[in-house]
Parts: sequence; structure tokens; C-alpha cells
Amino acid sequence: MTNRLSVWVKHSQLSRLQDIRRHKVGQAESLGDFSGIRALSDVRQIHFRVPASVRLTSVVSLATLFLVVAVYAVTFEEISSGFHAVQSRRIQSTLQFLASKHFNGRATGTPEAELTAAYIASVFQRNGLQPPAGNGDSHVQSFELIQAVPREESRAAIEIEEGASLSLKMGEDFLPATWGPDSGEVRAQMVFAGYGVTAPELKYDDFAGLDVNGKIAIVLSKLPGGSGPKQSTWDFYSQKDYDEPLEKALAAQKAGAAGIIIILPSNENLPALSSLNFKNAKSSLASEVARLHIPALFVSYATGEKLVRGKQRQEQTLQAIQDKIDAGMKPVSFPLERTASIRASYERKKLQGRNVIGIIPGADVRLRDQCIVIGAHHDHLGTGETQEVYFGADDDASGTTGLLELAEAFQVGPLRPRRSIVLAAWGAEELGLLGSKHYARNPAFPLHKTVAMIQLDMIGRNEQRPADPGNGVEEEKDENNTNTVSIAGSAFSPDLKHWFEVCNRRIGLTLRYRYDSGQENLLKRSDHWCFLRAGVPSVFLFTGFHPDYHRPSDTADKINYEKMEKILRLLYLSAWELADQVRPPRFLSSTSPAPAEMKTQQR
Ligand SMILES: [Zn+2]
Repeated sequence: MTNRLSVWVKHSQLSRLQDIRRHKVGQAESLGDFSGIRALSDVRQIHFRVPASVRLTSVVSLATLFLVVAVYAVTFEEISSGFHAVQSRRIQSTLQFLASKHFNGRATGTPEAELTAAYIASVFQRNGLQPPAGNGDSHVQSFELIQAVPREESRAAIEIEEGASLSLKMGEDFLPATWGPDSGEVRAQMVFAGYGVTAPELKYDDFAGLDVNGKIAIVLSKLPGGSGPKQSTWDFYSQKDYDEPLEKALAAQKAGAAGIIIILPSNENLPALSSLNFKNAKSSLASEVARLHIPALFVSYATGEKLVRGKQRQEQTLQAIQDKIDAGMKPVSFPLERTASIRASYERKKLQGRNVIGIIPGADVRLRDQCIVIGAHHDHLGTGETQEVYFGADDDASGTTGLLELAEAFQVGPLRPRRSIVLAAWGAEELGLLGSKHYARNPAFPLHKTVAMIQLDMIGRNEQRPADPGNGVEEEKDENNTNTVSIAGSAFSPDLKHWFEVCNRRIGLTLRYRYDSGQENLLKRSDHWCFLRAGVPSVFLFTGFHPDYHRPSDTADKINYEKMEKILRLLYLSAWELADQVRPPRFLSSTSPAPAEMKTQQR
């Protein structure tokens, strides 16, 4: 049980207590829960809750409490210089620079990507941000990427009857997965393992009771439940990457499989062989690919049908089996009578990716080993076939500009927040969130000490898109969205939502809470995902899609700089709150969703 009290604190008293504020943590923590402090709200009224065990019985204890609360609050005036330092004029010049021809679309692996990283690092350095520990004096965290193009020696065959075999054609029937290892010939019995998913939190396991050891696992793409609403429910509740082909291969490897064959969805074709070159090759994190040791192939749905249908299953089509799993959301796995032999071989090329990390060290000795991460990706798509530049002004020069603006703002005032703040400009996001994936394995602060993550990806435009009733999307008009910004991911942390709302009282943006679920799967489409999947309360600030998304026409002249100023001021205040609160925001686990959150998240 808690009591709720209110105390008015005069600004002058706060100022006098400023110098001792950072040394009073122990005292304050012993009093319990201070989550209700509204330090930055307009009224300097401070609410807090006191556990029943700490009853206030005398004026003396009230005075003590008063002092402790006072030393805990930071006022708007105290941090207003940083707030006012965030200005649309500088935002505009920074963004125009990043989205200029000079950076040539900022594609990973190009000299311009290196230039982008160096520029960001210089701004971090100028503002006194620290590099991550163990990285010398460099703010740039490099990582290795690998592109792989399958070689013709790759092979796949299945045994139809005893002795007779059907050899499959590369490019027509099968294709080695581009993140697979080179392998010798692997010949083994096949097992059909449904969707190849082991999800304990959803009580679902395609490998349960199946002897996979030394066998070649045949699995379907995507997730059980088909493409209907069920799939998004599964996605929403499970912050995992079960549908990622590499994850499926790793799950099969863990179950003991000697190889894996992944059946593409019936409406997807294998890529044409002519497209298999380094210009079009998918990139993967070298460290991630190194985890896989078994060969992995993709086959077309028609080929999958041939693999699965045997003497004992003449009448049962692959589609019928898949429908059965989808309908019951229960695994249907079984051994196959036939063997397959597969071999994968590649040509490989290495690329360099770069995150740029700048740390604002926390001021409180007790809390500075915890952090909040604010991220945006600095890479974009580079140039197209005819050398046209993809400027990526909104995507994501806007978010990157936001980081640089915050680096300036936090250095202006005399105070620092209690927890540390990590500003992270991710590389290789457009290639599959690779920079943030690398960071999640090599973080500046352990993820369990990362109390919140805020991603800025496309924060510069007014949402504009046609209606898409099938996906529950209403028409959005530019002129209706000049003051709106969406915050995705808050369903997993109502506390984050709360602090954004409190701070927004001073800003007056229209905040929307959407895109937490649905076919577009936005929660998995930017760098906050690696944090969310690790259980870190994370939100994604996003001003929405527009017709210039991933087109050369995403240019700096179309940015709403006034709105960006508001968004970044909101972020500045929210970051202060989150970094200063005694109690970190809570993460709402996927296995215990709040029904109210589920209902409201679609709006
Ligand atoms: Zn983006």
C-alpha cells in the first residue's frame, strides 16, 4: 500500500541544494518509490509515494522527506539552456549537409560511409562525449560484414526410390543461403520439422519428440498461423526472430541437424541466378554467420512438395500439412523415408561497417553504470543503377541529425543526468539492422544495465500514404500530420509512454501510439528491435511513411524542421527524465500482456 503526498518546492531551495543533489541517492532510495516525481512539469508540484512501512509521524520526518525529495528533482529552468539550444536552424543545416551529394547516399562499404562516421565522431568529440570503454580514443565501433555469392559447385539431390536420385537445379529448384558456411557433401535422412521453431514462451516446439540428430531438417518459411491476424499476434507476443531463416538454421543446428533446407513460401520465387553478384548480394555480420556450421539451402515450394511427399504420404500435400499446423497452431513434424545430399560453396567478400558511439557519463556514482541509449542509423542506400543518389534526408539523416543536436544540447548546461546517456549512430541498418545487432553483442554498457532505448528513424516528415484497408491502415494526409509523431513500442513499456506524455505538456506535439503490431512489422524494422528483443524498454520515434520513402526524392527540402525541433526538444526532456528517475522504466513481458495495452495499440 502506498500513500500519495504532494509537496511544493521553491526554485530557490532547489538551487541551494543543487550541489548536494548528486550525493543523496542512498538516502532517497531507502525511502522507496519515487516514480511519481514530475520534475519537469510546469507546476513545481512534486508527487511521490511512500511505502506504508515509512509512515510520516512528525514534522521532523516530513522535513527530512522534503529535503530528500528536493535533492531529487531537477527543474526545467536548470536544464532549459540545453532545451533552447535545440533549434530548427542548426537542425536544418546539419541535415542538409548529411543529405547532400557530398555523402553520396551514405551506403555501407563506400568511402562516403567512412566520411559520415568520421563527421559524426568529430561532433561527438567536439562536445566532449566519451568513446566506449576499450575502444581507445575512437568513437567508431567497427565491425565486419560478409557478402556471399553461391558457387556453381553447390549441389542438392534427393533420393526418390532406393538407388534413384533426383538432382535439383541451382537457381531453379534450390539456392544456398547466402549466410551459410561452405560445406562438404552432407548426405543424410530428411525430417520434416514444420516451421523449424522452438519457442518455449509460446509453448510451441517443432522439434519436440523428433529425432533430428545427424539428419537434414526440412522446414517452412515464416511463422505458424499463416499471414492472417494470428501471425501478427505471434509476432507481437514473441520478441524473437523465429521467422529469420538464419535463426531457423541455428535452431536446427542446436537440435542436432546436419543440414537444413528451408522451403520458400508458395508465393515467392528463388532469385534469378543472374542476380547473384556482389552488387546485389545480401550482407551479414561476420560474427553472426560464424555461429552456423551446417549447410543451409532454400528450395522453392514446388521442390519442397517433392521433398516431403513420400511413399507413405502420396495423398498428403505440403499445403495440407501446412494448413493443419496453421489451423491448430500445433506442430506437425515427422521423419521422411528419403535421404538428401547437399553441398554449399561460396565466393565471399568482406565489408566494413561502423557504429559511432558517444557517451555522456552519468553524474551519479550509484547510477552512472546504467544508461539509456538513443540511436539513429547513419547509413542509407547509396546510389542506384544510373548513379542517381538516394539522399535519405528523412531516412535517416533526420535521426542522425537528432543525435548530433542532442550531443550539443547536453553539453550546454551545467548539469548532467544521473545515468549515462549513449548516443549511437548505427551503421548498416539498411542491410538488416547489422550495426545495432553488433552493438547488442558488444554494448558500451551491458544490456541489463541499459534501462531504456529510443530509436529515431525518419523523424522529419508528415505522414502521407493512401489507405490500405487490408492492413488496417487509414489514409494519411500531409496537411493533417504537420504536428504528429508516432511512438512505437510503448505497449511494452507504459512507463516510457508516461514520460513522453509528461514532457510533451511543454511541447504540444500530437503523439500517436501505433505500429506496435500489424503486417508492416515496424517493431522489427529499425534498430530498437535488438534492444526490445533483449527485454530493454524501447521505443521508436517515427513521423511515418511518405511517397519518397526509399526513393532518390527523399531530399532535405521536404523536411519539416519546425516539427523536428519539437521532437528533439521532447526527446531532450524525456532523456533527462529517464536518465534521472530512481526507478527505471519497466518492461512488460511478452508472456503477460496487459489487455488494455493490446486494445489500444492498434490506434
Ligand atoms: Zn531508416
